[in-house]
Amino acid sequence: MRIDLHAHSDRSDGTDAPAMLVQRARATGLDVLGLTDHDTTAGWAEARAAGERAGLTVVPGAEISTVLDGASVHLLGYRFDPDHPELVAELARVRDGRRDRLPRTIDGLRAAGIDITAEQVAAAATRAEAPGRPHVADALVTLGVVGDRNQAFDRYLSPGQPGFVPRYGVPTEVAVELVAAAGGVSVLAHPWSRGSRRALTPERIAGLAERGLGGLEVDHPDHDPATRGRLRALAVSLDLVVTGASDHHGTGKDARFRLGVETTAPDEYDRLLAD
Ligand code: AMP
Ligand code: FE
Ligand code: FE
Ligand code: ZN
Repeated sequence: MRIDLHAHSDRSDGTDAPAMLVQRARATGLDVLGLTDHDTTAGWAEARAAGERAGLTVVPGAEISTVLDGASVHLLGYRFDPDHPELVAELARVRDGRRDRLPRTIDGLRAAGIDITAEQVAAAATRAEAPGRPHVADALVTLGVVGDRNQAFDRYLSPGQPGFVPRYGVPTEVAVELVAAAGGVSVLAHPWSRGSRRALTPERIAGLAERGLGGLEVDHPDHDPATRGRLRALAVSLDLVVTGASDHHGTGKDARFRLGVETTAPDEYDRLLAD
């Protein structure tokens, strides 16, 4: 059993349609794929149907944009009720925040001398329910301003740079509780990657575990071996499930994030999603 529980389609900032993503997952030998687009469940139906055709189990999920102590924390929610009213409302609020900030993002870049327009960003995000900086990055690539998304983040889209505008995120504790209330299970995505490590102290993670957090994504391309060792020990001490996943974004991220590059152990998967 090869299980990859974190991947993005073009409903957020991946580059493949959900069905294509599932086909690629099958072709690389995966048996289970988590579809975890940012802040949307729009890809679930297409991915599930493709999974049935391909003989691959799709675990429907979402990577929820949350905020803890002012830091951006990504929370993976799995198999929650996609019609749960409060969760639906929070996801819509995040997506609205994403759309609302685009004009200011564009203004910031234009003030920095880049001739980018709203139409160009929209053209890069045609299939996205959750438009984000990666789509702005794609527009900058099309314009020839940068060579790839990485360069766009390095030069223009990170905090303190002309194309960075903050947006709404769900308080992390609230998101953990909402996923549980909606019948799902939550896992902290890449908890000790650059953005969220400062906020996610072991004490904070313990607090989230008390509110119903189910697991930690330990094996992620952003975590070095020492980080994984410490996180794994923390997961064990808090009785949290240990997951591993690629965080694949199609061609939107480099080969470090290719499908199946990190996987979840079958017994941990069973523990996470046991009824
Ligand atoms: P946003 O959703 O607008 O906050 O943008 C964050 C998203 O950008 C994350 O989900 C990442 O997938 C993506 N991202 C962050 N840094 C990079 C990078 N250096 N190269 C490509 N994508 C990135
Ligand atoms: Fe992303
Ligand atoms: Fe993430
Ligand atoms: Zn992700």
